Amino acid sequence: MLRLFKRTAPQRDPLEFHVSHGADSYKIALKRVAGATRFTIRVRSATRDVVLTMPVRGSLTAARDFAQRHAEWIDARMRKLPKPVPFHPQETIPFEGVPHIVLHEPDARGTVWLDQATNGKPALRVAGDARHVHRRVTDFLKREARTRLEDSVKRHCAKINVKARDVTLRDTTSRWGSCSASGGLNFSWRLIMAPPHVLDYLAAHEVAHLIHMNHSDEFWKLTRKLSKDVDSAEAWLKAHGASLHRYGARSEADAA
Ligand SMILES: [Zn+2]
Repeated sequence: MLRLFKRTAPQRDPLEFHVSHGADSYKIALKRVAGATRFTIRVRSATRDVVLTMPVRGSLTAARDFAQRHAEWIDARMRKLPKPVPFHPQETIPFEGVPHIVLHEPDARGTVWLDQATNGKPALRVAGDARHVHRRVTDFLKREARTRLEDSVKRHCAKINVKARDVTLRDTTSRWGSCSASGGLNFSWRLIMAPPHVLDYLAAHEVAHLIHMNHSDEFWKLTRKLSKDVDSAEAWLKAHGASLHRYGARSEADAA
């Protein structure tokens, strides 16, 4: 016998909606969270977005009202965020912790190279078409991040006789590095913008996870054996880590 079950489709929430404040409109990402007992709004500086968390069974209309009532607060918080810095000529971006000015060399051969500006300050010169400056700088930073992270991982692995399966780069906002159960190490390519001791510490931290998949005392003992910079690097990340996410934001014109 063929039975037909009549099912009512579950009510789907929109993933996001907008609230307006004066002439500005802000996109609010909606997150239903098990265990949440009230509405909460967060402005995340790394991703420059607004998240509203709400109870699983909370009313969508109430959520919208709540967000709209807090539009002025959202507006104030968004305005206070550090300005995004695109990878464009004349912008200054950190490379290994040192500010570098981006200089466009339309007639030069090659891709991206480290140099000095005429005033002697560090520069990142970018050859080729102006439309490709963003991509070229991004590719350069990722390539340099990969080289340095692979070097650091190899060096720390050799000290304790372990092997990482591979090293992958991502653009994560929640963590700077991670270690998978199968021994793959994953890092944010943005670490190339941090001072070298910070990048090297992160490599040591993830290599130590190849032995201890936790943050136990043994894990920290091993990490400190691999890196002398645990405290200074952690302090640097706490103070400046979030600011690394403001670099490389693409303008509408770039994305087109
Ligand atoms: Zn860890």
